[in-house]
Amino acid sequence: MESNAVVWFRKGLRIHDNPALDYACRGSSHIFPVFVLDPRYLHPDPSAFSLGSARAGLNRIRFLLDCLLDLDSSLRNLGSRLLVLRGHPEPASVICRILKDWNIRKVCYEFDTEPYGQARDRQVTDFARQLGIEVFSPVSHTLFDPAEVIKKNGGRPPLTYQSFVALAGKPPDPLAKTYSELPPVGNVGKVELLNIPTIEELGYRDIEQEEFSPFGGGESEALRRLNEVLKDKEWVANFEKPKGDPSAFWKPATTVLSPYLKFGCLSSRYFYHCLHSVYLTVGKHTSPPVSLVGQLLWREFFYTVAFGTPNFDQMRGNKICKQIPWKDDDKLLVAWREGRTGYPWIDAIMIQLKKWGWMHHLARHSVACFLTRGDLFIHWEKGRDVFERLLIDSDWAINNGNWLWLSCSAFFYQYHRIYSPISFGRKYDPDGKYIRHFLPVLKDMPNEYIYEPWTAPLSIQKKANCIIGKDYPRPVVVHDRASKDCRKKMGEAYAKVGSAEEEDDTAASESTTIQKRKRQT
Ligand code: FAD
Repeated sequence: MESNAVVWFRKGLRIHDNPALDYACRGSSHIFPVFVLDPRYLHPDPSAFSLGSARAGLNRIRFLLDCLLDLDSSLRNLGSRLLVLRGHPEPASVICRILKDWNIRKVCYEFDTEPYGQARDRQVTDFARQLGIEVFSPVSHTLFDPAEVIKKNGGRPPLTYQSFVALAGKPPDPLAKTYSELPPVGNVGKVELLNIPTIEELGYRDIEQEEFSPFGGGESEALRRLNEVLKDKEWVANFEKPKGDPSAFWKPATTVLSPYLKFGCLSSRYFYHCLHSVYLTVGKHTSPPVSLVGQLLWREFFYTVAFGTPNFDQMRGNKICKQIPWKDDDKLLVAWREGRTGYPWIDAIMIQLKKWGWMHHLARHSVACFLTRGDLFIHWEKGRDVFERLLIDSDWAINNGNWLWLSCSAFFYQYHRIYSPISFGRKYDPDGKYIRHFLPVLKDMPNEYIYEPWTAPLSIQKKANCIIGKDYPRPVVVHDRASKDCRKKMGEAYAKVGSAEEEDDTAASESTTIQKRKRQT
């Protein structure tokens, strides 16, 4: 008798450590590996501020298409294939339809913690259960089940990294299963199957090559990149954030595995497991929060808080977010977004974001601080939107969590600590190689002026073929004055809504309680 299973890929675009795929194969005569193309994610939106769809910039769309091609090729090597469907009117209803049409017994998909994913999956789960179809939705995008961690913490998400780590414990091992072949694909009947489109077929034409990120998508590339990282055991063992040069771009100072984790081309459990194997062979190594394992735990921390906090992605109605009277200023926002603030360090980072869709963590710190509490006093939600669109690793929980952090709206409250848009970058890259690469208009500016070109005498500007105010903008604000003003406003906002110390006390006492609890057990 036929026993058909659907494995529905959304994130988790991989074969390794994939419990949904594993369960779908068990006892099934046929499996249907499905991906639904969502037009809102893929089709050009001419009203968006950058090339791309309503929900994603072109670099991330291209990354996703790479992931799909790679997944399809891996499935074909195992005697299966990816069934690509048109997501009309939207992905959930397409899945409901095929569950019926293909006489499905069980449907398997990775648990998704994002509000959008939760609503979509509820629709499918409800429908499937009504038809008596088994639903299997394992946690495999994260190391831990956020709901479990919240339960362990008495129903509230832990609000400090330390308290999270103390609660979380050791993650489960990745599945060791490898396949030589998969059950065959069943009869798809009249359902229309699509090819994985190229970006040109999606309607993106006449694009200059330099618009593209150097990072290609897919599980094969993720595993290749991971193996490169793991080869250098000393580097892995000594990894220590925030040490590392944010201006290093040809050979970044961190792994650049974030886009692969975002799309689930790389399993976080597998990554964690590999790091531990390296630690065992080298002996001495760094520890959380600064180690590489520590970075994975930051990811978990934000996933857990995001899952347990209503309205996590906004200031209003978000209990953990300080209410700050941010300013509305579209002109300044656009100058920041387009890399035209007149501060080369800030502008180069924003151009790297636009062209590559990835920047180093401390570079993200610099521009997020500059936009919000450091200089421009613009709402973190506006910056979050720009990152959300342009990053290839754009991740709902991590992006919102870090914007809350950087704007001193939650988690971190030392608003008087501001990154200088001049001296911070200079510390790492006194010759301005990073700036010269991403802002070629400044390529001939002498080192002395590269971080403050407006201070260069006109004769030097002429010699460098870059007149400030004409070829490159003057600074949109005077940093010393703007940052002083920001500190004052933050102080006033904090005084109004309860002091930062109170919040820190809550966090500290939470962590102490957990430590006490640990000592008792
Ligand atoms: P590595 O240092 O090699 O770390 C390994 C992995 O650990 C990363 O791939 C990532 O999954 C995780 N990680 C590292 N740092 C953090 C962190 N601070 N918070 C949570 N997880 C972390 N990261 C995203 O993946 N998606 C985002 O949308 C995102 N938005 C951000 C927005 C702002 C304002 C800031 C300051 C940071 C943001 N980050 C985001 C976190 C961090 O900058 C990136 O994860 C990191 O730079 C990715 O590079 P990597 O893979 O080389 O990191």
